[in-house]
Amino acid sequence: MTTPTAFTDPKTLSGPTLLADSTIAPALLTLRDGRIATVDTQATPADMAAADLVADPAGVIAPGFIDLQLNGGWGCDFTIAPDAIAHVAERLPQTGVTGFLPTCITSPIEEYAGWLQTAAVVAEALTSGGPAAQVLGVHLEGVYFSPQRAGAHNPAFLRPIDVDEILTRYAASPLVRIVTLAPELEHAPEAIGALRARGVIVSAGHSNATFAQAQRAIEAGINWGTHLFNAMHELRQREPGVAAALLLSELPVGIIADSVHLHPAVVQLIYRLKGAAGITLVTDAMAAMGMPPGTYNLGGYEVNVDAHSAHLPSGTLAGSILTMDGAVRHLIEQSGCTLAEALTMASRTPAELLKLPNKGRIAPGADADLVLLTPSLHVQATIIAGRVAWPHAG
Ligand code: ZN
Repeated sequence: MTTPTAFTDPKTLSGPTLLADSTIAPALLTLRDGRIATVDTQATPADMAAADLVADPAGVIAPGFIDLQLNGGWGCDFTIAPDAIAHVAERLPQTGVTGFLPTCITSPIEEYAGWLQTAAVVAEALTSGGPAAQVLGVHLEGVYFSPQRAGAHNPAFLRPIDVDEILTRYAASPLVRIVTLAPELEHAPEAIGALRARGVIVSAGHSNATFAQAQRAIEAGINWGTHLFNAMHELRQREPGVAAALLLSELPVGIIADSVHLHPAVVQLIYRLKGAAGITLVTDAMAAMGMPPGTYNLGGYEVNVDAHSAHLPSGTLAGSILTMDGAVRHLIEQSGCTLAEALTMASRTPAELLKLPNKGRIAPGADADLVLLTPSLHVQATIIAGRVAWPHAG
C-alpha cells in the first residue's frame, strides 16, 4: 500500500457521496465539532472544487466502516493481549474502519473480568487520544458453543450455559455489546433473555442447532447471526439447520466475504435473500491482517497464514486476513450488489444493529466518521469525529 499525502483536518469535503436515502450523488459536506453540519447536493462546481478535501470524481465518500468482529491485526491478538486494542485502533483507519468491536474468543472463564477491565481502560484512553478507530463495545465470541462447531476455539474452555455466571463472571461489563453463543444449548433461552434485557445483542454462532431449535431461539430474542454458514450446522435438504432459520428470519447476519470462508455463489444467495439491510460485513480478521504471511497467534493457537487465509495445522480456518475495504470490493464482485449497497453493509447496517443512529449515515447531525474511496475502492482518506485519521502526518 502506498501512503497518500497527509491532509489537515477538513472543514469541507466534496465529491460523489453516499446519501442517507442510499443514492450516490455529488455533495458538499461541511463539518463542525466532530459532526456533519450540512450536506449540500446543490452546491456549484466552483464551491465543490474549493472544498478542503475533494474526492476523486469516480470515487465515493461513504460513512466510515464498522467491523463487528475483529480478533486483532498488525501482529496483535486481542484475546491474548487486550492492551493491543490501541495499537490496532490507530491502524484501522487505513482500511476505512472508524468504529469496531474488539472480539475476545473462547478463553478460561476466570480471565473475562480482567480482559474486560483492560479493554475498558484502553477504550477510554482512545477517546481522549489522537484520531483512531473508536471502540464501540466488545464482542465476546464463546465460551458457550457447541463442541461439534468449535472451529478454531479451544474446546477445553467451552462451558454449559449458566445464566448467573454469564451476568456476573462473563459479560458483567457494560462494554459488552455482542455475545455469540450456540442457541441450542440448555438454558439458552434464559441467557438470551437476560442478555437482551441488558441491551446486549445476542448472536447465534458456532452452533449445531436444527432449524426448529434455531427458530425457537430467534423467538427467545436472538438478534444477529455470527459468520453465517461458517462453524454452524449445514443447510441440508431435510434438516436446514440454523443457517436456514437465520436466512429466512428478518435478522441481519454477519458474513466473511473474503472468497475463502464462503463460495461466491453462497455470498450471492445470501445477498439475494437478505439484501443490504440484512447483511453486516465483518472481517473476523486475526493478528496476521496487515502483515506478511507467516505463523501467528489466535487466542493461544499457532495459526499458519498464507497470502489469502489463516489455518490451524489441521486445516480448520482460524479467522481471516480480510480488511473491511477488501470485503466491500469482494462483495460487489461476488454478489452483483451495487456500490451503495456494499457500502451500506459495511456501515449503516452494523450501525443500526448497534442502535447508533448518528453513525453509518451521511446526514446533518451525524458523526463526521467518513471514508473517501478511490475509483478502485481503496482508501484515499479516513476521517473520524471530523479529524483525519488516515493518512496522518508522521
Ligand atoms: Zn467464529
